[in-house]
Amino acid sequence: MSGWKGKGSRSSHTHSSHKSPTGQRRTTGNRAPANIVGVPVAAGQQVTCDIIGLTHDGEGVGRIEGYTLFIRGALPEEKVRAEVMSIGKSFGRARMTEVLVPSAGRRSAPCPIYDTCGGCQLQHLDYMEQLRWKRQHVVDNLVRIGKLSVAGEPDLQNKEGAASSRSSVLVHSTIGMSEPWRYRNKAQVPLGMSAGRLIGGFYEQGSNDIVEMDACLIQQEENEETVRAVKQAARLLDISAYNRATGRGLLRHVVVRHAKTTGQRMVVLVTNGRDIPHALELVALIREKVSGVVSICQNVNTAATPVVFGEETKVLWGEDVIYDEIDGIQFAISPRSFFQVNPDQTEQLYRKAVEYAALTGEETVIDAYCGAGTISLFLARHAARVYGVEIIPEAIEDARRNARVNSIPNVEFAVGEAEVVMPRWQAQGITPDVIVVDPPRKGCDIALITSMLELQPKRIVYVSCNPSTLARDLRLLEDGGYRTVEVQPVDMFPHTAHVECVVGMQRIDVTP
Ligand code: SAH
Repeated sequence: MSGWKGKGSRSSHTHSSHKSPTGQRRTTGNRAPANIVGVPVAAGQQVTCDIIGLTHDGEGVGRIEGYTLFIRGALPEEKVRAEVMSIGKSFGRARMTEVLVPSAGRRSAPCPIYDTCGGCQLQHLDYMEQLRWKRQHVVDNLVRIGKLSVAGEPDLQNKEGAASSRSSVLVHSTIGMSEPWRYRNKAQVPLGMSAGRLIGGFYEQGSNDIVEMDACLIQQEENEETVRAVKQAARLLDISAYNRATGRGLLRHVVVRHAKTTGQRMVVLVTNGRDIPHALELVALIREKVSGVVSICQNVNTAATPVVFGEETKVLWGEDVIYDEIDGIQFAISPRSFFQVNPDQTEQLYRKAVEYAALTGEETVIDAYCGAGTISLFLARHAARVYGVEIIPEAIEDARRNARVNSIPNVEFAVGEAEVVMPRWQAQGITPDVIVVDPPRKGCDIALITSMLELQPKRIVYVSCNPSTLARDLRLLEDGGYRTVEVQPVDMFPHTAHVECVVGMQRIDVTP
């Protein structure tokens, strides 16, 4: 384990390698024969580098004579030593070997496998600084990609000639967690074999090798316990794990969920084939070791793909769903349904979405990309009617069940692509006052944006997990007659580089 993640670490073990073959230290000028014309560094070269920022996935951005080097683990305002690993025409990658001048925000990552895992990217940065960086990252995207003018930022109109003469967007401080650990309610653990023994944990950064792991500091402890029990049971019964290289072996992933409010747990075994040897004993062992387990399911995935789930899911024992509760609403969650992974922050996120929808009880609302109907049901308590659309059929089954269970009658759900279903609703004469969208990372389909602009709702609430596609889509909506009023970043994934946002937009002819 390298010591360079430590606060103010000035590890000495790498010093000798910084010397040139003649034994002389290179100067910080970093002049060495470049093997790409115009690139001031060469692969293998040791460099000293100032870090000027973080990429969207939390890597340090170093600059050497105008050339960009991405350096994992380095923080803004630091000076680091690094070994150049690869170079390209416009940027290269380097491995940090020493922090020469640490940032005031540098912390030692508490997780022992932080360097190899890659699941978290920001544990070495103070949590308050993480929250600040996340807001800034959102602002940067809104300005650069969205060409929006952000309150408190230099006015783009003069700088980049953006046509808009509208007032600035308010970007709030990121809503963080008071206790930003042990938050995840779902673990998705790849399984494999190592020296004839079943192992499970995570893919080593940048490889397909599985590393055995039993503890993850952002995971709820109940999930760790469940995964451990499943691995032990499979070992005991000699059930094989899948080998991605040969396509042989049975257990591919174990996916576990824990509903904090009800204590219910779910286990999903993703298998390379239908038959599980000793299935009954396996179920019995899991039930015996895992308190609160109410659902043990199997999902079959025989395809040579990194996608976790296949199409076929069946119940091995117990229920087909577990129940969780957010703000007094109960939610059924089935194996393949999307459900936000950080329950405390989800409540914050949904409340903001409802706030920005500014409902009086009279409105018709569309919730596109609705998953298991979570936001739809939150909205339905304050609206006349809500229409939800989602691509995964099981999620819509969950959504309908959720409406029933909570006695919320004024919602209607449809299975399909939002960009196909919305125009259909439009043709049926449904005229939404508010549209809420919560798309996956790639953002909204252009057909959906077009359809939204044709439907002309008074307000649009955009929930996004990717600031760059968010900024792209906000620009399209702005050009179509909407104004971005405010943006609320919410930290759904502490210690990772991910940031979620809720955005309130208003049609420009509507007075607030
Ligand atoms: N709003 C929900 C789900 C958000 S995640 C919640 O907060 O829980 C995004 C959802 O979009 C996923 O459920 C995914 O299955 C769905 N999805 C992805 N592409 C889609 C498309 N083209 N049309 C409709 N839904 C889609």
